[in-house]
Amino acid sequence: MRKSHLIKPVLGSAYPVISHGKGIYLYDKDGKQYIDGSSGAITCNIGHGVHEVAEAMWNQANHVSFVYRSQFTSEAAEQLAEKIAHYAPGDLNSVFFVNSGSEATETALKVAIQYFQEQGNMTKTKMISRWTSYHGITLGALSMSGHKLRRQRFTSLLEDFPAAHPPYCYQCPLKETYPGCGVKCADDLESSIQAIGPDQIAAFIAEPIIGASGGAIVPPDEYFGKIREICDKYNILLIADEVMTGMGRTGKMFAMEHWNVTPDIIAIGKGMSAGYTPMAATIVSDRIMNVIEAGSKVVMSGHTFSANPQSAAVCLAVIDYMERNKLQDNARVMGQYLINHLQRLQWKYPLIGDVRGKGLLCGIEFVKNPITREPFEITTKVTDRLLSICFENGLLVYPAVGGVTGFSGDSILLSPPLNVTKEQITDIMDILDQSIGELTTLLIK
Ligand code: PLP
Repeated sequence: MRKSHLIKPVLGSAYPVISHGKGIYLYDKDGKQYIDGSSGAITCNIGHGVHEVAEAMWNQANHVSFVYRSQFTSEAAEQLAEKIAHYAPGDLNSVFFVNSGSEATETALKVAIQYFQEQGNMTKTKMISRWTSYHGITLGALSMSGHKLRRQRFTSLLEDFPAAHPPYCYQCPLKETYPGCGVKCADDLESSIQAIGPDQIAAFIAEPIIGASGGAIVPPDEYFGKIREICDKYNILLIADEVMTGMGRTGKMFAMEHWNVTPDIIAIGKGMSAGYTPMAATIVSDRIMNVIEAGSKVVMSGHTFSANPQSAAVCLAVIDYMERNKLQDNARVMGQYLINHLQRLQWKYPLIGDVRGKGLLCGIEFVKNPITREPFEITTKVTDRLLSICFENGLLVYPAVGGVTGFSGDSILLSPPLNVTKEQITDIMDILDQSIGELTTLLIK
């Protein structure tokens, strides 16, 4: 007899029932406290239970929650688009609202193809992405994702968009060493473009910092500058997938700002609503919008809930909270504090191969041998076991398992809400220390 009608990630597993959340803490129905060390799925950027957001929800719902975007616009959606355009770099001034990160990257793909079609170029319909990447779960977004585990059951329906190597210095797929390598991983994009044919390719999509499939892999400083040049050389659009890195997570509103590189399209989600409602967006440059406006005038996509005033009001309240509490600054300072702690832990536990990240998007990669950087076998299930131990000990961390080939590799993300304090980071580190200690004992047995 099935006890629950809800399809959960792992069928048959017991999931605690959540009761409530406040700040970086969550509490289940049995009263157990969990520190949200991963902001859920790197989403709850302002923490749980923020009263002002609940108030904004209530106010908007009392006016109007939903209108269909083909019939009306709303003050909330207009204001939110203006706010995002204000923060977005360069001429990225137009915003298309969707409901999930997958829809945001898929909309980016469609806009890129449409941009060339409006100009009479019907052959640029392919994308290039990288192995060790994650751009979402719907078929278009999965086509772009270089995440073999998630692709494997659906390969017959997917396009082969992952073609370029990632800038993964710790486990360089090109077996090079930075900086002597001259950032060959960026040149690898050029080789892929030449192999496929530039006349076939509309865009290159990349996460500024690789998140879900690699555990906060930060590229060398020169990487995105070179990528921008290569894209321009072959008339290929550059799409930054900032679904995880955007909205202040890395200490800047958009992670691409770290390298002063302006993409043509940016996808955001997650922290945009901080989890208070499903909301995501595709931000598009004037260069692209001018072409569409002079052509068919219609961006060929859209969802029932796109630009609904309820979600827009929530996001405005979230951004307002971020601004008033200077959360981008806090992410920078606390991120460095967290990294310093993690590096100290690395001295203690040989299985911590690498510690990396920017702002409060921090990652740890676990290896069998820290000298050779040999990964653990998949069957050892290091990430899964650590997750369970941390959970048991009251700390939530996020699994990031894609690895060099998109198959193996053990890493986690530590990414607490952006308003985390030093004292709370110390608490997180105490539990993490204890949990990695327990894992080490288990692995030796
Ligand atoms: N893009 C990136 C970089 C992500 O990390 C994710 C989710 O983890 C997505 C896209 C997909 O977002 P969603 O799960 O909201 O569809």
